[in-house]
Amino acid sequence: MKFDYDLFVIGGGSGGVRAARVAAADGVRVALAEEDRMGGTCVIRGCVPKKLMVFASEFSEAISDARAYGWELGEGRFDWPTFRAKLHAELDRLEGVYRRLLDGSGVTTYNARATVKDAHHVALSTGEVISAGHILIATGGVPSVPDQPGAELGITSNDIFNLEELPASILIVGGGYIACEFAGILNGLGVRVTQYYRGAQILRGFDDEARGMIADQMRERGVDLHCGTTILAMEKREGGVWVKSSNGHEEIFGQVMFATGRAPNTWGLGLAEAGVAQGRNGEVVVDDYSQSSLPSIYAVGDVTDRVQLTPVAIREGMAFVETVFRGNPTKVDHELIPSAVFTQPEFGTVGLSEEAAREQEPIEVYAASFRPMQHAFAGRSDRVLMKLIVSQATRKVLGCHIVADHAGEMIQLAGIAIKMGATKEDFDRTVAVHPTMAEELVTIKTPVRTA
Ligand code: NDP
Repeated sequence: MKFDYDLFVIGGGSGGVRAARVAAADGVRVALAEEDRMGGTCVIRGCVPKKLMVFASEFSEAISDARAYGWELGEGRFDWPTFRAKLHAELDRLEGVYRRLLDGSGVTTYNARATVKDAHHVALSTGEVISAGHILIATGGVPSVPDQPGAELGITSNDIFNLEELPASILIVGGGYIACEFAGILNGLGVRVTQYYRGAQILRGFDDEARGMIADQMRERGVDLHCGTTILAMEKREGGVWVKSSNGHEEIFGQVMFATGRAPNTWGLGLAEAGVAQGRNGEVVVDDYSQSSLPSIYAVGDVTDRVQLTPVAIREGMAFVETVFRGNPTKVDHELIPSAVFTQPEFGTVGLSEEAAREQEPIEVYAASFRPMQHAFAGRSDRVLMKLIVSQATRKVLGCHIVADHAGEMIQLAGIAIKMGATKEDFDRTVAVHPTMAEELVTIKTPVRTA
């Protein structure tokens, strides 16, 4: 045989593992190297532990709601070490599942760092050099921290799951997915949360009405959110990190967490030396088939800086196998990707925001904002938002935005209809499920505005 393997995958995260398993199941000779824990960001330090922390944090409200519903409950207390031990046991279990899946499909795994030497060779940190017909780069992303004095005193989402103890207070910097999700999580767990975002409103790029509603309710729940605010200076001081901010405030926080974006994990990977073209953020530049500038090297997932979402990386990995090993060139469809931001309140979204749709064509906006029965009974002031953006010309639903408990679950289903090209009238023809929050999506008859 000309090469040691047909395929060498660098990175054992969602995209890399899926591509390796599917290819190996077809009889392709596959090896995969992972320098850290198998499972990657999603399983080890992202989606999975984050979601478990969301669940843990929601009990504080559930307990007060339970009292409002007539339950007699004593005072509860969240014990971080107990939760953390269970969390890590679960992550160990999941890592084991990933390893067994790889072994079971015949993938050879290397617990080593791999770098690209040339079009057909990788060098391992063990000293071995391995040849392969194709190389798949699936090294994901890493948190990126602003280049400012004192930034090294801050932590990132990578560190949060390993803290020995929860701080009494935390400053979270950023206004994206991670910043807003952890603001809610830590607030729910009893940490005093302050959040600084440099722009005018959190969750830039999403529907404005939804962003405003989420920000208001985060504040109502106790997050001290400051927009248009940045850190001017940071110093280690007794009790934590002293921060001076652009709004004139000075405070010592137990921890400061930067959630200021993620950068492609390509540093030191040998890409420039091997001649693999990279973009401005260091990402591997790929075409619609995930092929890099070197024909035998492909890349999928966050390292390509396309859409930083686990299910997208998985699809890119599958399309790569289809293209390269099944002779069926397959592009990944990046249109109308539903996603959820696990803020409190939760946000589910698919398609165009009202603002983006208005730029594109004349639209109608159907929206309902109300106090859901469950919360109203418990005496909470939370409101939910159900919103559809409809094309005046085609009647197609261009976007759906839901701010509500379980919005992530709802948007997965709304996403199917919208991906199929459903019109507002298709939604209207569907009988409501009563009494639910989502029934509003099929019962709003009159647009709240046209634009
Ligand atoms: P995001 O890109 O979502 O947000 C980054 C935030 O940091 C933005 O508010 C940005 O501001 C701000 N920022 C960037 N640079 C600086 C700086 N130098 N100083 C101050 N603020 C700065 O990244 P995240 O890290 O939150 O998440 C990374 C990606 O991971 C997400 O985009 C998402 O694709 C994925 N993810 C998905 C989740 C899900 O599906 N639920 C959960 C978590 C992550 P500005 O808006 O002004 O640019």
